[in-house]
Amino acid sequence: MNIRIENLSKRFGSFTALEGVSLDVRSGELVAILGPSGSGKTTLLRVIAGLEIPDTGRVWFGEEEATFRPPGERRVGFVFQHYALFKHMTVFENVAFGLRVRPRSRRPDRRALEARVHELLRLVQLDWAAQRYPAQLSGGQRQRVALARALAVEPRVLLLDEPFGALDAKVREELRRWLRRLHDEIGLTSIFVTHDQKEALEIAHRVVVFNQGRIEQVGSPEEVYDHPATPFVYHFLGRAN
Ligand code: ADP
Repeated sequence: MNIRIENLSKRFGSFTALEGVSLDVRSGELVAILGPSGSGKTTLLRVIAGLEIPDTGRVWFGEEEATFRPPGERRVGFVFQHYALFKHMTVFENVAFGLRVRPRSRRPDRRALEARVHELLRLVQLDWAAQRYPAQLSGGQRQRVALARALAVEPRVLLLDEPFGALDAKVREELRRWLRRLHDEIGLTSIFVTHDQKEALEIAHRVVVFNQGRIEQVGSPEEVYDHPATPFVYHFLGRAN
């Protein structure tokens, strides 16, 4: 689904986390938000998810204005850096949780739920681990469970906040390629936050460079890398052209 963000601003006390941020994410796109720590990336995701209300601006999901809609009504999938899986629940139960929190009208009965959980686990190639507990899995596998749980809501947009930040370089790289393939294959619309330029340039259809709550540049990975639009982008990407 198209996600449109218009002129968002958000302050926390005297600190401006977002200032005049506008962005269109097209249906089927994987957009990376790239920027240093503290530049407002997570705040932007939280506003889209409904976990923060902006001071100014609007959020649109397709033709529907979502700015003030409660998080539970937005059908947003969220994957965080630190898995946030329930430790006392099996992999199966963790993914089923994503289905049980859906509004009653969209909640499947027991058999449909089981089938759907297995389908989601197959999608992330973890059906064999259904009865394991998170502690029995590697970091990369846990993050795939978190992704299956996020997909359970049939998200209109998938928000990923440094999802591979806690993993080592080799696993990150594998997961990055795998996520991009999965994204394209099942036709998701995703926003992927990272402070790692290599990750952003490799995974995304388009990259948005953030600095101090503002957008410095939006473009394809090639455009951003080859033609940094501002001194900040030039220095952040650390490239001498
Ligand atoms: P990023 O994801 O780019 O690291 P964030 O969006 O997390 O940046 O945060 C930007 C800044 O906003 C943070 O440095 C923090 O000081 C401030 N901030 C974020 N959330 C809150 C909050 N709930 N209360 C106060 N300050 C906050």
